[in-house]
Amino acid sequence: MINLKKLVIVIPCYNEMEILPQTIQIMSNLVNGLIVENKISPSSKICFINDGSADKTWEIISDTVLKNSLFSGISLSRNFGHQNALLAGMYENDADIYVTIDADLQDDPKCITEMLTYIEKGCDIVYGVRSSRETDTFFKKTSAQMYYNLLKYLGVNVVYNSADYRMMTRRAVDILKQFPEKNLFLRAIIPLIGFKHAKVYYERTARTAGTTKYPLKKMIALAWNGVSSFSIVPLRLVTILGLLLCFLGFVLICMVIYDWASNGTVAGWASTITIMTIFSGVQLFSLGMIGEYLAKVFLEVKNRPQYIIDKKIGTNSDNTLIIK
Ligand code: UDP
Ligand code: MG
Repeated sequence: MINLKKLVIVIPCYNEMEILPQTIQIMSNLVNGLIVENKISPSSKICFINDGSADKTWEIISDTVLKNSLFSGISLSRNFGHQNALLAGMYENDADIYVTIDADLQDDPKCITEMLTYIEKGCDIVYGVRSSRETDTFFKKTSAQMYYNLLKYLGVNVVYNSADYRMMTRRAVDILKQFPEKNLFLRAIIPLIGFKHAKVYYERTARTAGTTKYPLKKMIALAWNGVSSFSIVPLRLVTILGLLLCFLGFVLICMVIYDWASNGTVAGWASTITIMTIFSGVQLFSLGMIGEYLAKVFLEVKNRPQYIIDKKIGTNSDNTLIIK
């Protein structure tokens, strides 16, 4: 008898009650299929992480777990954010292989079968990559493309058009645990793990129910986290800007002295004020930039937990229900 690997599919959920029934149906069909085909162990699980939802998400999850031992659930004590919910799902489950996928299944879950073939071939990480963004809004599409290019320019290594849909082996997740950072931007940390990896391409579809849980504010926060946690180029730009302005200031002083020496009256009030405004703007911006990085250090030093578990529900190997 071959030693089949235990797969755990981690699904973060924040106010997802509209879409969950559909997701539960699709994912259980898929995982049952994989078990029947002997591709994964029968002890494999689909684990929902309730990230402090205010709606009936947790009720739906726990009802499902009670009816079907294929599912398990973890409820966090409050909203910790998508990235931390993913960590909780991976760190709190014991498995040979992990998959993380969004609750709305915009990322094609059928790719899991293909991802497994790469794990069989010795890969430790398989990235789900969006081959097209047809269903994304024009704004989301262009801003995402510009952002990926900016990250590349700043020297941050991410897989182009790959978000948080991926498969990882236990070995890769164990290495991830050694990264202590609190400012999580998983898609830039995971490539740092190295090992043999592969990409699986799929078309990203539109959400079929519910609304996005990533409004513009959260998207900008995640994007800035990606830049400031992985690149010091912005700080370096501040230094370069400072040097350039010093040079400009020196040239200005030379001009003023020349004016004074040649014919007396020098530049008036307006030009002084203009220069002062520009310079104080640049100074404030630079201070702000340094402050942003300092804030990151502040958060890391406090070393607060990345997630807190309120409840857990699931069945163990001999099918007894465990509620904690
Ligand atoms: N999510 C979460 N915590 C949050 C925000 C989002 O766990 O604070 C989950 C959400 O339930 C979904 C995934 O993260 O499973 C991605 O969110 P969404 O699909 O709304 O993002 P989009 O696809 O619009 O970028
Ligand atoms: Mg989505």
